[in-house]
Amino acid sequence: MEVGENTAALEVATTFEELGLAPEILGALRDMGYSIPTPIQKQAIPLVLAGRDLMAQAQTGTGKTAAFALPLLQKMVAHASTSTSPARHPVRALVITPTRELAIQVHASVVDYSKNLPLRSTVVFGGVDMKGQEADLRRGVEILVATPGRLLDHAGSKMVKLSQVQFLVLDEADRMLDMGFMPDLKRILDLLPTKRQTLLFSATFDDSIVGLAKSFLQNPLKVEVARRNTAAELVEQVVHNVREDDKMDALLRAIKARDISQALVFTRTKIAADKLGRRLQKRGIQTGIIHGDKAQVERLAALDGFKQGKVQLLVATDIAARGLDIVDLPCVVNFELPYAAEDYVHRIGRTGRAGASGLAISLVSPEEERLLVAIRKFINRDLVETPLPENEPPRQAAVAVPAAVPAAVHSAVIEQPDATQPRTGRLQREPVCALLLPPIKPVQSNHNA
Ligand code: AMP
Repeated sequence: MEVGENTAALEVATTFEELGLAPEILGALRDMGYSIPTPIQKQAIPLVLAGRDLMAQAQTGTGKTAAFALPLLQKMVAHASTSTSPARHPVRALVITPTRELAIQVHASVVDYSKNLPLRSTVVFGGVDMKGQEADLRRGVEILVATPGRLLDHAGSKMVKLSQVQFLVLDEADRMLDMGFMPDLKRILDLLPTKRQTLLFSATFDDSIVGLAKSFLQNPLKVEVARRNTAAELVEQVVHNVREDDKMDALLRAIKARDISQALVFTRTKIAADKLGRRLQKRGIQTGIIHGDKAQVERLAALDGFKQGKVQLLVATDIAARGLDIVDLPCVVNFELPYAAEDYVHRIGRTGRAGASGLAISLVSPEEERLLVAIRKFINRDLVETPLPENEPPRQAAVAVPAAVPAAVHSAVIEQPDATQPRTGRLQREPVCALLLPPIKPVQSNHNA
């Protein structure tokens, strides 16, 4: 059989009850407000329950975590034990993710879904002390979520035994390959029993993923909910042509005019993320920065601040933002277009998640036109350039400007919109920063030329 026999027609159950999940799991889902399964959940859950290996093409935001976590919990219900003996809690399900942030997020979901069951889970990732993780592992856990390197460290020091793993999930497998984790994955696979069920989730199914599936999966079925070149349907995509030097003002104008309370802002490089983040902070905007060179504590603090609404703009690079699940994220801004058109789809998939609508704003300089052309081709959609929206006049004029205050930080008051307004949700109406938005020179659009 060809790798990944397609199961597109398989979407029978329409409720979680019909999927045959245990009352403890159904109760947890009710508490979380999940009423109906998402398409990937409808397709994947019955197949996982039936014991099949799976290649699932689903991006973050489609509900893919529950698509694997729920049936795996269901399959482990029989092993759930209140015993305190570590021997009664061997690792049965191993979930491997490319990034720490995704690992933390997946684990948080597992904790939520399993809260009514005596099944233990933990998460291990690099960049933090091993000790706390070791204590959890020693107690015994049925579900282990891990990034590859740290998992191998723990396995190497015999802190974790993987010989009883029955279920392996490779989450965001495409990104794991992009990040060069193939050798680590091979080493991990060598530690696992060959008789196991393996589920591979990936946003794309290119040749390298098919190769991975051939070597790690047995007779897998293929499910898919979003095609490689389908940009999230619910995301409104806006393009503004802006000169490179005017981008920061354009960013502020674009979000202010639309009353956007929070946005995830993408740059291509860590250096650009740092630079933009610092400039925004100097302007008095609550800005977090998240990229691969930031210490783990800094990344988590930035993410937490953003989730709690303390941070208005989170500036991120592609890899750092991968897998971030921020509920109700209203807006993504491409401050710089990505070099790989595919990353555009990943970026805009950060908003408009699980049925919510979202907005993706791209600030495109003349130098980036060719990247825009590639993105249009990739998503098979004409992204039309629109002029930057006008800002309303400031509600409160600055009374006096002390001589020492930099020219850019004095004249207008930007308001955090009311939590009841669209695309908002967290912050109260209060002045958060003073901004001067100088006029932005129009840029001649040449994409239709
Ligand atoms: P994921 O693709 O797993 O990262 O999930 C994206 C978001 O959708 C998360 O915030 C989940 O909590 C949420 N979610 C997953 N499944 C459902 C569902 N069936 N109903 C409502 N929200 C869901």
